[in-house]
Amino acid sequence: MKIVMLGAPGAGKGTQALRIAEQYGVPHISSGDIFRKNLKEGTELGLRAKAYMDEGLLVPDELTTDLVISRLREEDCKDGYVLDGFPRTLPQARALSEKLKSEGARIDFALDIEVSDEEIVSRVSGRRICPKCGAGFHTLYNKPRIDGICDICGAELKMRDDDRPETVLKRLEVYHAETEPLIAYYKEEGILRTVDGSQSIDKVFEDSLDVLQD
Ligand code: AMP
Repeated sequence: MKIVMLGAPGAGKGTQALRIAEQYGVPHISSGDIFRKNLKEGTELGLRAKAYMDEGLLVPDELTTDLVISRLREEDCKDGYVLDGFPRTLPQARALSEKLKSEGARIDFALDIEVSDEEIVSRVSGRRICPKCGAGFHTLYNKPRIDGICDICGAELKMRDDDRPETVLKRLEVYHAETEPLIAYYKEEGILRTVDGSQSIDKVFEDSLDVLQD
């Protein structure tokens, strides 16, 4: 099963992508995680990407597309994957379609998690991430067992630099301009599925599994 997650930053893509990946027994591939890992390791790519990420801008397609597509060539991706945060532009989506077409494959579903801009802004302020293992939490909707501490590895949780309010507004603007057109792109291909992302995490997951059955 090959799934592309769509939705604004903060819509809950990452949380649902992890659960869906687990459900189907395929890897969760997050382009944002790949950039953050590179940044942590101090690679040149990571440093180049940081300048864009800190401003809430997209990393240019030429830095992003090859990086993610080469990850999809790894052995663990042969039976499918859940792509989270990629593609984010039409050129990225076309590059992915081309890559798959050359292998006689295709994306099975693009799952759009719909949440209003107002809700995104209020949600993102509660988002916390573990700087050590990358796990995501939320101060209201997905609380860690101990306040401020990662359930998985015990590290102290942090707010992502790009979750600052002014950066979030910029990321939403970029989302509407660059990423939202992908909804029409995948609709045209007949593989778009939509869920109401304003519901609880469990309900969004349940609805996602339902729409991924058809
Ligand atoms: P995310 O964790 O998916 O919210 O990604 C964090 C940041 O990484 C984004 O705001 C972008 O700056 C960058 N990024 C992640 N995925 C992509 C992509 N597919 N294209 C361009 N930039 C990306």
